[in-house]
Amino acid sequence: MEMKSGHVLAVPYPMQGHITPIRLKTTLTLTTFIFKSIKPDPSGPISIATISDGYDQGCESPYTVHEYLQNFKTFGSRTIADIIRKHQTSDSPITCIVYDAFIPWALDVAREFGLAATPFFTQSCAVNYVYYLSHINHGSLKLPIEELFAFFLSVSGSYPAFLEMVLQQFTNFEKADLVLVNTFQDLELHEKELLSKVCHVLTIGPTIPSMYLDQRIKSDTDYDLNLFDTKDVSFCTSWLNTRPQGSVVYVAFGSIAKLNNVQMEELASAVSNFSFLWVVRDSEEAKLPPGFLETVDKNKSLVVKWSPQLEVLSNEAIGCFLTHCGWNSTMEALTFGVPMVAMPQWTDQPMNAKYIQDVWKAGVRVKIDNKSGIPKREEIEFSIKEVMEGEKSKEMKENAKKWRDLAVKSLSEGGSTDINIDTFVSKVQSK
Ligand code: UDP
Repeated sequence: MEMKSGHVLAVPYPMQGHITPIRLKTTLTLTTFIFKSIKPDPSGPISIATISDGYDQGCESPYTVHEYLQNFKTFGSRTIADIIRKHQTSDSPITCIVYDAFIPWALDVAREFGLAATPFFTQSCAVNYVYYLSHINHGSLKLPIEELFAFFLSVSGSYPAFLEMVLQQFTNFEKADLVLVNTFQDLELHEKELLSKVCHVLTIGPTIPSMYLDQRIKSDTDYDLNLFDTKDVSFCTSWLNTRPQGSVVYVAFGSIAKLNNVQMEELASAVSNFSFLWVVRDSEEAKLPPGFLETVDKNKSLVVKWSPQLEVLSNEAIGCFLTHCGWNSTMEALTFGVPMVAMPQWTDQPMNAKYIQDVWKAGVRVKIDNKSGIPKREEIEFSIKEVMEGEKSKEMKENAKKWRDLAVKSLSEGGSTDINIDTFVSKVQSK
């Protein structure tokens, strides 16, 4: 039998948390501006092609999220079509577009050329299902589940364009050939079933490099595509190697979350009672309490601008992860068996925090002070102690390890993710 080979064009939304999980065997598109920022290694395992979002030189003048999304659609559709055309006469024409679910218009481009179209959801099945319900209810949700999800929807007026973007994911997804989700079956058995009632879901997560998990792909050691400077990388790891097992609190809020000065002050005061590794991005540094960096005891704690998070979470010295509960960070902590202290900020994060504490039982959520609306230092400190050494600490650590084992099982030969990836690949090849 003649084997057909498929060629996937992967189109992520241009943000760190969306680019890293979509690395398939592929031609990966990056917007021109992001391409220039990352400077990917041309000898790397994936081919890169550039597309335009209308902002090739970056942001010359201020724009709204709505304007950005409109321009991305106009310029993105045109430049993706150019790439497809360019490959049509090659040995390896593109057969399928895997696109970030945040950009549903990519389906129309795929159909124009008769290609398979597969959205890739970078958030959990639980969150996707709630967005789906909200979409079919025209942005409102009159269900008990609303309590779980209160934050985004209750302040939706503050983020109308983002809300519009996440709900838009569901405008045409039932027309897609398959729907890929970065999660694994055992983690969200029931939620996957719910979503499966409305589309053909394949859970293909965690999309963490193989060498950290099943170790079947020797070259797959890193996400490879970093939007942030990684010059702190080697230093973080060598510093962690000098710290006792389970002693360090890792504090990181992903690539976009912004805390205000008061939140930073509360956090700084709380973590100062522990040995910590805290990622404070350049854009956040000015919000630290004056003189804080000078008071950090360099033998005990470290503040960096960006960290090699996979290396950090897999280091034995880490005792817990104080996180904003972005979906990648949540999956990474679970698959490295690290218990979490949850301090969600917005979008899917409150829902992820709810699951971390009450469903996966692998961490605690810091209580918010009713008066100020933010977590106070005493609560943050209390929550860290609970996870590091409290009554339920052992149970949380064991649960985190249990999720790690299940993540490895799902990726290993015959596991749910392994089977789903095969299903996806045969679909792409038969197109
Ligand atoms: N990350 C990292 N170093 C850092 C902070 C974050 O490598 O210092 C990575 C992290 O491993 C994750 C991604 O950035 O893969 C953040 O994605 P997430 O979904 O957690 O949050 P977002 O940035 O989308 O809010």
